Amino acid sequence: MEYPGNLYVVAAPSGTGKSSLVKALMELDSHITPSISHTTRAPRGQEVDGREYHFVDNATFDRMVAEGAFLEWAHVHNNRYGTSRAGIEAMIGQGKDVVLEIDYQGAIQIKQLFANAVLIFILPPSWQELRSRLQRRAEDSADTIELRLRNAAEEVAQVQAFDFVIINDSFDRALFDLKAIAHAQRLKFAAQKRARAETFRALNIL
Ligand code: 5GP
Repeated sequence: MEYPGNLYVVAAPSGTGKSSLVKALMELDSHITPSISHTTRAPRGQEVDGREYHFVDNATFDRMVAEGAFLEWAHVHNNRYGTSRAGIEAMIGQGKDVVLEIDYQGAIQIKQLFANAVLIFILPPSWQELRSRLQRRAEDSADTIELRLRNAAEEVAQVQAFDFVIINDSFDRALFDLKAIAHAQRLKFAAQKRARAETFRALNIL
């Protein structure tokens, strides 16, 4: 289905800098709104319900799955995460650009539903660097870090299903790349025609 807003789907193994990059993109670009997922995981650190995630219990998540409330959902690191259908359709229907920070399974499901969704994969510069970043972040136990690294190997194998690849060896360079992708999307014919309807009319372009 075609909607006036763009969907940017960003996936990456945890520790790759995905959240910081997406946050920086949204600070620079007020037209981009985040999608707030539902998760059965417990809040970490400073996370607030309704800001980073809607934190729900297993029964609520089950009910939402049964009601078809999710566009996609997946098991990631022993928890469940899902993207709300109503939220996304309302935002892109109003012409807002929405960024989804989700795992590769969800990204692929979104592309099946929205052929125009832009799938962006962020890679770490090396396994060694990813391990160091996860250790420096000090949010997870040693066991969790090992689980995340094992999952990361599986995740990066999915990069070929994505439209764009960013290698985050320098934050500024990676942010530049992310901005460039968002910008290029808005220069596509259909997007320009919507944004610059008067110019198109004046130029007699149908
Ligand atoms: P974390 O628990 O570290 O916030 O997220 C773990 C993983 O779940 C990340 O890769 C994150 O992008 C992914 N994730 C977050 N929300 C969703 C969602 O709604 N759907 C899917 N498929 N993955 C998600």
